[in-house]
Amino acid sequence: MKYIFITGGVVSSLGKGLTAAAIGALLELRGLTVRIQKFDPYLNVDPGTMSPFQHGEVYVLDDGAETDLDLGHYERFTSGSLSKLNNLTSGQIYDSVITKERRGDYLGKTVQVIPHVTNEIKDRIYEAGEGVDILITEIGGTIGDIEGLPFVEGLRQFSTEQTRGDVLFIHVTLLPFLAAAGELKTKPSQQSVAKLREIGIQPDILVCRTEEPMSDEVRQKLAMFCNVPAKAVIEECDVETSIYELPLMLQRENVDDLVVEYLGLDAPDKPMDKWNDIVRRLKYPAHKVTIGVVGKYIELQDAYKSVYESLTHGGIANDTKVIVERIDAEDLTTEEGRENLRKLDGILVPGGFGDRGTEGKIWAARYARENNLPYFGLCLGMQIAVIEFSRNVLGLADANSPEFDEQTPHPVVHLMEDQKEVTQKGGSMRLGAYKCDLLEGTVSRKAYGSESVSERHRHRYEFNNAYRADLEAKGMRVAGVNSKRDLVEIVEIEDHPWFVGVQFHPEFKSKPFLAHPLFASFISAALEKKANA
Ligand code: GLN
Repeated sequence: MKYIFITGGVVSSLGKGLTAAAIGALLELRGLTVRIQKFDPYLNVDPGTMSPFQHGEVYVLDDGAETDLDLGHYERFTSGSLSKLNNLTSGQIYDSVITKERRGDYLGKTVQVIPHVTNEIKDRIYEAGEGVDILITEIGGTIGDIEGLPFVEGLRQFSTEQTRGDVLFIHVTLLPFLAAAGELKTKPSQQSVAKLREIGIQPDILVCRTEEPMSDEVRQKLAMFCNVPAKAVIEECDVETSIYELPLMLQRENVDDLVVEYLGLDAPDKPMDKWNDIVRRLKYPAHKVTIGVVGKYIELQDAYKSVYESLTHGGIANDTKVIVERIDAEDLTTEEGRENLRKLDGILVPGGFGDRGTEGKIWAARYARENNLPYFGLCLGMQIAVIEFSRNVLGLADANSPEFDEQTPHPVVHLMEDQKEVTQKGGSMRLGAYKCDLLEGTVSRKAYGSESVSERHRHRYEFNNAYRADLEAKGMRVAGVNSKRDLVEIVEIEDHPWFVGVQFHPEFKSKPFLAHPLFASFISAALEKKANA
């Protein structure tokens, strides 16, 4: 069993998560089994209660864990299935330590950061690593952060419990380019490595994020001052077209060779065909479509991360470049704002909470329905489609979800039965993987090519079965159900080339080399729409 620990220096947002994922991909390609784990130093138990402004997307796993969006990268780049063990926060640690203290587990002792908090951290490393060749653990935040200290100390202790050569430390750092001086500066990296060594950790590999290629001189300087061999100073430039170039880029810098050498693994180099093929398809696509994503956090880079990635995957599957037009739902309440919809080949309405922007999203669904434009509604986007159809086809003018209008006379979407007793916000939605049976003769069944699928959920409201017969009579058909609980999971519009709303989040199960079937089918429908326009 081998361990790789990834820390970050100088600034946040260095793309440590992607680096961890890409290294995982390279090792997996060499035939090793890999699992990736993330430690987050904040005090929230999980990111489920945080705003997208604070945190970006909340990524949901099969077991219902609400996790950091880096876990999305881990799942997209590698095949290892992840669970709640793969994302540990300070909040979880303190929750567990204090519960143990109250129970009397530490009776007689003073409970302290060392060893009680650090023990929890080490336990989680052991637990998450069970059954794989290599566990990669990424520590969120930047070296020097007060909150991150117990984690880094935990790693140091952990490494002393292992045989030499079984643990590898990778430090991801930034080389700022000073235009006035015309050079890349190494001092911040030197200082962040010094900070690591102060705690007792000497990095083995330095991954340097840089906008400019690194000269040999810079490499030598970093090697000297950071106490690593020059060959272990890795250049990681910004990628040109796509994040899926990263495994290739790191492989050119021999990162995987180094890891295998340092950890004494017998895992020969393998051809990179799989990743080369993806990058080729991304760089030289045969076709192009424009998809409008109508949301309320469109100005944020990370709020709909998995949705954007899944659209790209759908494009890869169709040899098509997907241009994403980010549309602020609030702009669609005016005639002028709706002009923007004309240039689209498809509309996607992602998940969301709260009533801001819902009327604009309803407009988007209506536009797609009336103009035979492919529409893909995810979670809230499905509920929006049901509300729109009820208002404008069924003629229930005030149809709504009580989430947006508590007094609506027609709650065509309503709170799930078991949600009525929920009093605590955190971790209490309908979360994780549930089975969905697909009905014959539907677009969804054809796209999936199977009778039954498992998809991930994160919601409190659902389709109201009281309106099902009326909706079906007017042409909104139910295409997928959770038979066990009689829940509607997918709706479609009959006389429409491609109009699908799903109560789940397919974007959490798409990969670059295995696009989610609904995303692949949606992009193919958008292509067709464009060809017939
Ligand atoms: N707000 C809606 C609900 O709770 C949709 C949730 C979502 O889109 N993830 O049911």
